Amino acid sequence: MPELPEVETVRRGLLPAMEGVRIVGADVNRPDLRWPLPANLAERLTGTTVDRLRRRSKYILADLSSGETLILHLGMSGRILVSGDPLGQFHHHHPAPEKHDHVVFHMANGARITFNDARRFGAMDLAGTESVEDHVLLRGLGPEPFGNAFNENYLVNALKGKRAPVKSALLDQRIVAGLGNIYVCEVLHRAGISPARHAGRISATRVASLVPLVREVLADAIDAGGSSLRDYRQADGELGYFQHTFRVYDREGEACRTDGCDGRIARIVQSGRSSFYCPKCQR
Ligand SMILES: [Zn+2]
Repeated sequence: MPELPEVETVRRGLLPAMEGVRIVGADVNRPDLRWPLPANLAERLTGTTVDRLRRRSKYILADLSSGETLILHLGMSGRILVSGDPLGQFHHHHPAPEKHDHVVFHMANGARITFNDARRFGAMDLAGTESVEDHVLLRGLGPEPFGNAFNENYLVNALKGKRAPVKSALLDQRIVAGLGNIYVCEVLHRAGISPARHAGRISATRVASLVPLVREVLADAIDAGGSSLRDYRQADGELGYFQHTFRVYDREGEACRTDGCDGRIARIVQSGRSSFYCPKCQR
């Protein structure tokens, strides 16, 4: 499932194909993804220019010259392919149409952007740009991890008195937007905090230490995604999936990578999801 770094990598990969470029046509091949697609989607996109391509949490937002913003979510299995000759760093010929190509954008620069989603947990909607933050998918979201509103004081206050495990608190999108299972495991390992510890019982100093670690873990992954965009051998026009090494995620039974620790990575299930951690150096 794509997390924030994957979505940011998709956004960066789409920039040369989409930002500042007019949409000359759109194929909408079915009426719905997870939810019904907006009425007259193709007509509302055609002829507009993508003024700005930004990200909020795990949503890609394309602000259109029509005054609407296209909201795009990859869901569980959504894939975006960019093809077309004039893109410089992305010389991928248009692929043959595939079964789950649900929406295709045709750009004035010759680029083609294909949204393929076999399981259809993805979503696409249009909303007025002025009020897009009030959209049902966005309005409950907490601060962005790289934004100023996500800071040490904020997080200490947000976790104060919370009886939930710190793992659940960091996954709560109202506390911080865009953090998912994989990167929360990585953050807690770097912080030396057990995922099972009650959020409200961790000292303010240790909670504060999570803020720069959240940014560091996400920035490292975004860097890895950026390298994947520059890697011609790997690039087949599909954006957002890249190799990245994790310190704990999916490493059950393997040696801990903390300097001087001889622990082994354990897996526990919290709220139905796997948490990977080192019982020796995470307390
Ligand atoms: Zn360890």
